[in-house]
Amino acid sequence: MAEKFKLYWPIDSRRVNQFFGENPELYKQFGLAGHEGLDLWAPNGANIYAAAEGEVYTVGHPPNHPYGLAVRIKHDFNGQVYRTVYAHLQETYVQIGQKVRAGELIGLADNTGNSFGAHLHLTLVLDGAQTPGYTAGIVDPWPYLQTAAPVPPDESLPPASDLVIYTTVELKLRAQPNTAADIRGVLGVGEPLTVLGDANVARAKIGQDGEWIQVKTSSHLAGFVAAWFVEILEGEAKPSDLVVYPSMKLNIRAGRSLEAAILGMASELEALVVLGDTATMRAKIGQPNEWLHIQTSQGLKGFVAAEMVHLTGEIAASCGLVVYSTDVLNVRARATTDANVLTRVMPTDPLQVLGDLTQARERIGKPNEWLNIKTASGQTGYVAAEFVQTSEQVAFCGVGEVPTLSVYATKATILHAQAARRSPQVAKVKKQAELDVLDPDLEVARTKVGQVGEWLLVRVVAGKAHPRGWVRTENLSLIVNNTTTNGRIKRIENKK
Ligand SMILES: [Zn+2]
Repeated sequence: MAEKFKLYWPIDSRRVNQFFGENPELYKQFGLAGHEGLDLWAPNGANIYAAAEGEVYTVGHPPNHPYGLAVRIKHDFNGQVYRTVYAHLQETYVQIGQKVRAGELIGLADNTGNSFGAHLHLTLVLDGAQTPGYTAGIVDPWPYLQTAAPVPPDESLPPASDLVIYTTVELKLRAQPNTAADIRGVLGVGEPLTVLGDANVARAKIGQDGEWIQVKTSSHLAGFVAAWFVEILEGEAKPSDLVVYPSMKLNIRAGRSLEAAILGMASELEALVVLGDTATMRAKIGQPNEWLHIQTSQGLKGFVAAEMVHLTGEIAASCGLVVYSTDVLNVRARATTDANVLTRVMPTDPLQVLGDLTQARERIGKPNEWLNIKTASGQTGYVAAEFVQTSEQVAFCGVGEVPTLSVYATKATILHAQAARRSPQVAKVKKQAELDVLDPDLEVARTKVGQVGEWLLVRVVAGKAHPRGWVRTENLSLIVNNTTTNGRIKRIENKK
């Protein structure tokens, strides 16, 4: 039998928001029988990977296109041509004609085009195929994804029982029933697992320390999970496909009432898995006097006011406060240093603070606190509150005396999206153009200037757009002495 075309999961999570063919009423207006692909759960700024080896043939955001910023990759496989489309992206890291491997980073997730909340829309096209009710070539990607992590053929599995259990924490799926065994996958909180073998034997193990249960995931990945981190859910308590974020710090209560006991507190950065029927619960989000049954990433279950939460990717409004970083600062996708860096900001870049004003003011300057911000270029994300100051504080310090490292181009050169020659070109830089180096460690950056084979992230000083990108250091030279250039304020070189 010929090998089948396979799609690897293009995201880190394994959650599906909308399957192929769902919501026929909604898609009627587009002349489609239903949703024409898979919507995969992906927060703003999440990594997006090529689902198979192939060649990029389109990158871009055609005006008004429902897919927004999208990448399209062509896959030649056993004489057939498959195409994958990755839609609603924030940023792309590939260019037309580029060959990519399966699993290669091609961009970041967002909400561009016709989309409600950040996610990845994945379309699969098989040239010559025809699924009734859909545009020529469009097929359901799900069966291809299911084979992405096959059970090894020599392993004989017990038959699936009708018992479904759910993870209570982020949990590793292992090849054998012990913590030393190979990890086959990482399961999110609330992931449904079909128990393999005798359901009653498994039922007796649930919650027991040191016991293991053999299971199969919804993507047909088989393995063992720790029995003390799974549970059986009845009725409403099954996880939906919805993940919500509190609009501000929010009480988690034991019941559907402001009178009910407080079990815990959810911060606005905390992803809450909504329990219950997806459609019913979705309708409640943002509504007054409604409650949502939720589960936190620590496994705490309770109720939150539906009015006070929003879906993934939607952002809080600006609270009117503008802050500035005290140094070059990373803007991250989530409020943790583990999250993707979305962009970097300079001390002169104004940052609009999103969410609650009082809370934001309390956090400024404090370690281990984060602020949800929006940059002047419209990028939203999180910055460490320790390294920002309010506009009042900036005025006091003198905003002009910001440590910078200025360099100039010794010849006409190119700004790249990444520190790699084949990465997309961001802008052209003229000979002698002045550039600010955007590097948290300017002393190290300084030693790279003029060296062969190094890269630096820089920003063009002149003009309105101030494009930023990576430039090869052999094309740079230091600007010595404090200079006044292009009518700018006198800058002081970093002495740290
Ligand atoms: Zn979609």
